[in-house]
Parts: sequence; structure tokens; C-alpha cells
Amino acid sequence: MKTSGKVLAAQVAKIKDSDVFSIRSENLPTWCPGCGYFGIHQGINNAIQRMNIPHHKVVTVSGIGCAGRYSFFANTYGLHTVHGRTLPVSTGVKLANPELTVFAVGGDGDGLAIGGAHLPHIARRDINVNYILFDNSIYGLTKGQPSPSSPPGFKTKVSPAGSTEQPLNATLLALSYGATFVARLFAGDPEGITAALIEGIKHPGFAFFHVYTSCVTFDKQFKTWDHLKKWVHPLPENYDSSNHAQSIAHVLEDDYSMGILYRKQDS
Ligand code: SF4
Ligand code: MG
Repeated sequence: MKTSGKVLAAQVAKIKDSDVFSIRSENLPTWCPGCGYFGIHQGINNAIQRMNIPHHKVVTVSGIGCAGRYSFFANTYGLHTVHGRTLPVSTGVKLANPELTVFAVGGDGDGLAIGGAHLPHIARRDINVNYILFDNSIYGLTKGQPSPSSPPGFKTKVSPAGSTEQPLNATLLALSYGATFVARLFAGDPEGITAALIEGIKHPGFAFFHVYTSCVTFDKQFKTWDHLKKWVHPLPENYDSSNHAQSIAHVLEDDYSMGILYRKQDS
């Protein structure tokens, strides 16, 4: 049935800030079937709906790569920026309008290689941006090369004998740089992502979400779903997320515990 302009205008006029719909846009994700990014998208969508954040007060800023396409798939304001520059652009958006909820989104190549120098500065400035690092330890968009978070021995078309480089640990970096909210999450657990995002969005400073995910198309060896499901586990029951030094010590010992690792109490 065709809706007249008058009827449509009346319907739009009735929309209030409190009427929050799914943030899925009409542009359906072009990610490969089985990609972990679908779970992260679900987690973000849930958090925005459950917190009743109006779409016009949300901005998603993405970089380059498969994760960089995210801003097209979210029905919010969005910026698809240049490679590695999600964090300075997000900082500008938040400073220009502090009322906005800002998500910076990008992959491990975008955020830890070309954009790696921005993480310490947004952390030390404690800008109230939610940065979600989609970490599958591979460059997916360019068809599978080792990234800064790939482990030694990781075999790809350009490293047939296995990568010889040591990986960066993004969670440890964020904690070391002084991020006031740090969570490590699993793309296979959208509800866990939602729960941490809700806490991180409420946090008044910089919130970092390191999400372990799988590139099902180009990684058959390391961060596969089977591997991740076998190793990820919750934080210990007696874990104290207010203790910065203990959070760092824990991350040095355990690569696969999932949850809110650190939350500065007085921020
Ligand atoms: Fe996901 Fe990998 Fe496909 Fe990119 S190439 S959409 S990361 S599965
Ligand atoms: Mg990647």
C-alpha cells in the first residue's frame, strides 16, 4: 500500500526520542556467511535498543577493512573514514557534540598497524568514545595476510612458512596506555558483548572493547570458531575489575578470559 506524503509526515511527527528501533540499516551486511562480525553487530544493536538511545544521537565511525564497512550497516549517523583514523575522527565528533554516543569500529589491521599510534592518545585523554576492535588476527578484506595480532607460525599465502613476528596484545596495550574501561569479548557471545557495551557506554570516559572473532574465509588455522570456543572462558568469580595492576597481571597470564577486565572507579 502506498503511503501518502501527508500520512508519512504525520507518522514521522509521532516519532519520539524514546522510540528506538533496530539499528540494522537497509544495507544488508556483505560479510561472508559465518563471519564473526554478525555477532558483534547483534551485540551493538542490542545495547542501543536496550539503552533506548535514539538513532540520531548515535554516530558510528569506521576505518578500512571488512570491519570498516560496519558504518554502512548501522542505521545511525556514520563516517567511513580513511585507514586507521577512526580514533582521531571519533575524538573530533565527540568534542564537537558531547551529547552523541560515539562508536569507533575497526579491525586489527586498521587499529593496531596503520592506526596503532592513536590508541595511546585517546586513552590518556580519556575521551568518552566506545572503541570496538574486531580482532580476527588477519587482514580479511585483502584476502588473508598476517596482521599485528597474528601469532608466530601463522600460515597465509604471503607467509607460507608461517609468520615469524610476535603478536601485539591489544587488551594489554589499552590497559598500559591508561584506558579507564577495558573489556575483552567473544563474537560468538552477542549477549556478553551487549552486557559489556551497556556498562562501557555508561562509563564517562574512554571504553575499549577487544572482541575476538573469526575470519572463516581466510583463517583455517588459528582463530577458528572451534579454537575460540574451546579456549574462551569467563573471568574468575573473584576477579576484581577495579584493580589496575591485577588486571594487567591477569592479562599477562590469561589470553582468553572474557569480560570487563578493568573499570576505573572514580572516573
Ligand atoms: Fe569476515 Fe573474513 Fe569474510 Fe572479511 S573476509 S567478511 S573478516 S569472514
Ligand atoms: Mg582483521
